[in-house]
Amino acid sequence: MSLQEILTQRCSNKCELCSADGDLSVYEVQPGNDGSAEKSAMLCAACCSQIGDPATADGKHWRCLNESMWSEVPAVQVLAWRMLTALQGEDWSHSLLESLYLDEDTQQWAKAGMTAADDVSATPTRDSNGTVLVAGDTVTVIKDLVVKGGGFTAKRGTTVKNIRLTSNPEHIEGRVNGTQIVLISAYLKKTN
Ligand SMILES: [Zn+2]
Repeated sequence: MSLQEILTQRCSNKCELCSADGDLSVYEVQPGNDGSAEKSAMLCAACCSQIGDPATADGKHWRCLNESMWSEVPAVQVLAWRMLTALQGEDWSHSLLESLYLDEDTQQWAKAGMTAADDVSATPTRDSNGTVLVAGDTVTVIKDLVVKGGGFTAKRGTTVKNIRLTSNPEHIEGRVNGTQIVLISAYLKKTN
């Protein structure tokens, strides 16, 4: 069974954070995602984009964490912890965060992601037009790129959804032909 199939079964076609149905996609929680179901979550577009850019997070939307933070899935626990941390200005999120207990490894993982995000924001990742890219963005490849070790070419015009930032602003990660690869930011264009 593919990761997508495992997650589709696990989530019963509902976003694992806010329970919205429809338009769900696999969100691989970084850093250190190994493609396992424990480290990924099935999320709706709204959750994906706000996780990618917590500054736009809508406090009302994230009240959903009240329930989803009790998930047994480590990836969901980590996302809940990170969003509650990002929303600490709100009374309700502060008390939820205090009651959310993560085991040691999960806690480390959750914190590692926050630090990486902070580093990245220090030097923004920019596309070919100089537009700042954030995790969860959709980009288009602007020239044919040979994928080293992948045995294929990411053709000009290929759309890459739900990108991840890396510690290097010149590189992003995205899925092309079903393979997670590193792409050069300067050869990409953000699509809206
Ligand atoms: Zn959602």
